[in-house]
Amino acid sequence: MKIYVDKIPESGLELNEKIEPGLLSLDEHAVVNFIKPIDVKANVTKTGADIFVDVLLESLVEYTCAKCLSKFEDIFRKKFSIVREVRPAEILELDDEIRQEIILDYPVKILCKAECRGLCPNCGQNLNIGECDCGHNGPIENRPLC
Ligand SMILES: [Zn+2]
Ligand SMILES: [Zn+2]
Repeated sequence: MKIYVDKIPESGLELNEKIEPGLLSLDEHAVVNFIKPIDVKANVTKTGADIFVDVLLESLVEYTCAKCLSKFEDIFRKKFSIVREVRPAEILELDDEIRQEIILDYPVKILCKAECRGLCPNCGQNLNIGECDCGHNGPIENRPLC
């Protein structure tokens, strides 16, 4: 998203843009997968040499559970503000900021639900769906090593 400083009217400016997630090089985090373009809404105001940008990001994300590897979708929504001192006629490029803010918001550990039981390490059965028959029953944490 580009902001042309000399095109910001006194009353402020509202910008709407869709960014293809591929353009932000977020792909290295395969556990967080944007499945819709990122909706970027920005409210831009200028006071003297300072520019204020209120940004709202919205998209849909597919996560992969760290324990059971199942995939689930969730809405991604983030608000943040940028304050910058600018020169007249400067062109601000915000894609880097947007990328940083998205990565900052990645969950440390992605779970489909807090009590996810994960996969049986022996047979790979998803224990959220049901117990397996391989004899390694119970949550992974409580299971003796064999
Ligand atoms: Zn899970
Ligand atoms: Zn099993």
